[in-house]
Amino acid sequence: MTLKSVNPATEEVLAAFEPYNDAHIAAAVELSEKAFYSHRQTEMKERAEKLRTVASLLEAELERHALTITREMGKTLASARAEVSKCAWGCRFYADNAAGFLEDQHIKIDEGDAFVRYLPLGPLLAVMPWNFPFWQVFRFAAPALMAGNTVLLKHASNVPLCALAIEDIFRRAGFGEGVFQTLLIGVEQVGRVIADPRIRAVTLTGSEAAGASVASIAGKYIKKTVLELGGSDPFIVMPSADLDKAVEAAVKGRVQNAGQSCIAAKRFIVHRDVYDVFRKKLKVAFENLKVGNPEEEGTDVGPLSSAKARDDMDALVQGSLAKGAERICGAEKMKGTGFFYRPGLLENIPKDSPAYTEELFGPVGVLFSVEDIESAVMLANDTRFGLGSSIFTRDAEDIDRAVNGLEAGATFVNAIVASDPRLPFGGIKASGYGRELAEEGIREFTNIKTVMIKKLAE
Ligand code: NAP
Repeated sequence: MTLKSVNPATEEVLAAFEPYNDAHIAAAVELSEKAFYSHRQTEMKERAEKLRTVASLLEAELERHALTITREMGKTLASARAEVSKCAWGCRFYADNAAGFLEDQHIKIDEGDAFVRYLPLGPLLAVMPWNFPFWQVFRFAAPALMAGNTVLLKHASNVPLCALAIEDIFRRAGFGEGVFQTLLIGVEQVGRVIADPRIRAVTLTGSEAAGASVASIAGKYIKKTVLELGGSDPFIVMPSADLDKAVEAAVKGRVQNAGQSCIAAKRFIVHRDVYDVFRKKLKVAFENLKVGNPEEEGTDVGPLSSAKARDDMDALVQGSLAKGAERICGAEKMKGTGFFYRPGLLENIPKDSPAYTEELFGPVGVLFSVEDIESAVMLANDTRFGLGSSIFTRDAEDIDRAVNGLEAGATFVNAIVASDPRLPFGGIKASGYGRELAEEGIREFTNIKTVMIKKLAE
């Protein structure tokens, strides 16, 4: 299968690549292993310097990389710029903090000197999605490289130009040959890479189906996996909330990246006392969104990433309407060139409709009215997903109930969920397992080695 880069706003084919053949893949894995033995010997200080150079390159070339992102997957240029800047932040964060995170942990025992040392694992395979085509890669690669591992990236098939640009940045920053490599390969070639004994662990960010497939192959070969999968995050609004701020956050949370974010606010669960006001304000805000050319300043929402992404989104909306859900506004394909989808809202969502059970990976929010915090938490948890969650309230009891009761990897109060290098990120239930970012993230791909040096008689 040819890997094609298509501008989703214009449908123009930007580039096409034949996937690497078996010999090319084998050579890359061999190089990765060879590079591991020298990279793991480098000092933390040296790795940090290179990662700071990566950050400087990203900043100096911000416009070029942002344009590549926008042209390959359709997000607005403003958000692509912010994504590239965030990657630079992530690199600097780990350049500054990795040594501290991986310091030996001493444990007091009488028999001798005991401590935990964090050692690298070896070549890691990263299977990544297109929705944040730079950030998803950097948030994994920065800590993985600082810990002394090497990385092989299998990026999504629709963003090969981003994948090659990232490889090029690491190389130019001074990381040795083979320390970070892009593999232009299709899904059907991933299993063979995982099976290779030189590959020590796998991380995947993407859909449940992809996660299940990769984890089952990795399980067969007893290899560690971290899975960052889909989400259907609840966004709870209680009567004490600042409604204008909640509406502003709801719009941003739902339509950023044209709604194609795992941690987007997807289900608005609103207390009945404020449901009508919230619904009215949200509808006005959605109708005022400017959908169009993502390269133009002032555009709020660009196209979905591909014709398939748009058609899949529309099938979920149509399936929900057929089951009895009602349209408040928008939520339809737009005519003309490009894979545009009009942002919209649905309500009166039946339990057996796709809008209730599935992840809506596009700019469509669903609204529910609830009578109290208990029913809000129960409804929020009535999903197989468990990635992020947020609640808007001024009430301390509501906050406590949400923090303790919401089944999710994160609860943000009076804010939308956002990833941040300083905070651990990840999900529970069908949203995956393991954590990225912060101290937890860098330790995922290390050998947590126990060392005990017995006290000898003098
Ligand atoms: P996807 O189809 O699962 O693709 C993601 C990556 O997995 C791509 O590189 C894809 O390759 C690869 N892949 C797909 N099927 C595979 C298989 N059977 N074996 C091995 N690799 C496979 O995901 P998507 O639909 O493009 O992306 C959106 C999903 O990712 C959403 O569910 C979203 O919520 C989730 N996501 C989660 C996070 C998080 O941090 N939790 C972040 C972003 C996105 P090809 O492109 O070649 O198919």
